[in-house]
Amino acid sequence: MLGRKIHVVFTGAPGCGKGTQARILTEKIDIPHLSTGEILRAEIKKATPQGLQLKELLDKGNLATDEMIIDIVSCRIDEPDCKDGFILDGFPRTCPQAEAMQKMFAEKNIKLDAVIEIQVPDEIIMERILGRYACMKCGQGYHDKFLKPKVYGVCDKCGGTDFYRRIDDNRETVQNRLVNYRALTYPTIPYFENQGLLRTVDGTSTIEAVSKKIDEVLGIDK
Ligand SMILES: [Zn+2]
Repeated sequence: MLGRKIHVVFTGAPGCGKGTQARILTEKIDIPHLSTGEILRAEIKKATPQGLQLKELLDKGNLATDEMIIDIVSCRIDEPDCKDGFILDGFPRTCPQAEAMQKMFAEKNIKLDAVIEIQVPDEIIMERILGRYACMKCGQGYHDKFLKPKVYGVCDKCGGTDFYRRIDDNRETVQNRLVNYRALTYPTIPYFENQGLLRTVDGTSTIEAVSKKIDEVLGIDK
């Protein structure tokens, strides 16, 4: 516990490491990590009216509307575990969502401390995503370059010898996700910069170094 509230948004291109960093921070300061993807999946699983509406939309191959996402996030941050703050990851994804979020925060009297952008060049993101694979048996993740098993072809954790790669971890899909990020999410960066909320962190160093930088930005000394 920090003795003060922290409300923070993590943003950056897919593969920049924001999910990992959000998980590290959530363990350190004990406020929830709200990943929009997980919140939406949970809503569908609980079969709330919003969840059912969302499921119908997604089943038809549509995307959730901004309004639905805002609504669901708004309900989620009203839950008691968010009383000391939260870390948002994967939201806001667009400028209209960013504006609606600020309006919603103002209504709830929530002060956003910072928007942390984890900056990683596209080529490095490509290398990180294309190199990853996992053990078929236990799911342990590896990387061709950055995280090899101790013995070639054998899982450190379970001794398994079969591995797989996610089919959407291919060059074309990753390229599309990066283009999408530039077109839709990147415009939120200058939006938050204009509000004096943007803190950009270089995401190319080790997980520990990036985490340390984020702690500095947020004034956490642990
Ligand atoms: Zn394994």
